[in-house]
Amino acid sequence: MFSERIERLSGSLIREILAAAQRPEVISFAGGLPAADCLPKLDFSGVPPHLAQYGTSEGEPEFRAAIVQELARIGLDIDASQVLVLSGSQQALDLAAKLFIDPKTPVITEGPTYLAALQVFKLFGADITTVQQEQGQLPPAKLAEAIAASQAKLAYLIPSFQNPSGACYSEETRRGLAEVIDAANMPVIEDDPYRALSYDGEAPRPLVTHLKKAPWIYCGSFSKTLAPGLRIGYMVASPELMPYLLKLKQAADLHTNRLGQWFNTQWLNSGDYVGHLKELQQSYKVGRDAMQKALETHFADLADWLVPQGGLFFWLTLKQPRDTRPLLKVALEENNVAFMPGEAFYAQPEEGIGHLRLNFSHASPERIEEGIKRLAGVIRAAQ
Ligand code: PMP
Repeated sequence: MFSERIERLSGSLIREILAAAQRPEVISFAGGLPAADCLPKLDFSGVPPHLAQYGTSEGEPEFRAAIVQELARIGLDIDASQVLVLSGSQQALDLAAKLFIDPKTPVITEGPTYLAALQVFKLFGADITTVQQEQGQLPPAKLAEAIAASQAKLAYLIPSFQNPSGACYSEETRRGLAEVIDAANMPVIEDDPYRALSYDGEAPRPLVTHLKKAPWIYCGSFSKTLAPGLRIGYMVASPELMPYLLKLKQAADLHTNRLGQWFNTQWLNSGDYVGHLKELQQSYKVGRDAMQKALETHFADLADWLVPQGGLFFWLTLKQPRDTRPLLKVALEENNVAFMPGEAFYAQPEEGIGHLRLNFSHASPERIEEGIKRLAGVIRAAQ
């Protein structure tokens, strides 16, 4: 009774782990949740009554205008007609997959990459080729090789404070990647939900700003900086893609919820957003530094890692590579600590063997120290 596509439907491991990690005694490094005390107070008392009516598929004009201004600040100059407001930036991946991916369409992702992007791309039948990050960069020459070898029709990249690796590509890498993508004249999706969470200086301007001709989609989100529960994100695309994306949005859900758009517009247009971002940065930097210290104490002989300069995650590479999925059960059930196994972030899970993703925005510094100590114990016992 189901479509053929359903054979390719995979569950999201993270949703299962998050459910198990909800017990209060669990120290969870698994999710990418904002700290509860960093969420804004939801005040809908001033909401205009006309927002109870259907809205436009493109999104609220004031919100789109505010997004244009935000993007100009990071060097992405676009027209409001290029902005499509979405139900979370996750929806951008769904719409882009519908636009570009048929069964067996060759698609390139970074290794590692965002697991829910893999879930969507696989659902539509993508044949995924992985380009490995090297020392926190994605070598443009490796991307060129992979495009040539796979005849790729789409690339999906997260150049700033990546989920899961925390990597942030240099200006030079971005230029190099853009050149390769232009040469292939292949559409690229740049997913950028973590940009504002920077702790040691800002990320270089978006990769898509370096493109000269390739079609592109840039995805933004307010889930990491305001309230993920409102499910408000957006996509910006090169003009030739917009008519298709707009119709796909119409077909998906008519339009994004207007209350969430209104709430976010109030924040963006008030002076409070900038201050709120500063607070987030300060608070998450404390978490980042606490985790770095705890890792130095307990993991120096067990794993290697790069200190993330933004985003929400550390990405560990075990010195003695092993499948970390069985360790999760021991960690959760016997030690009340949760992490994300690296295998989940690869199209071919065996490529991710020997990695762990650890979130540092949710637990307090004391719980981070305790959780990292417990986790090191789990890994040491398994060696
Ligand atoms: N892309 C990446 C890389 C993410 O990490 C996430 C959230 N974890 C998303 C997209 C989806 O975010 P949103 O809440 O805006 O749908």
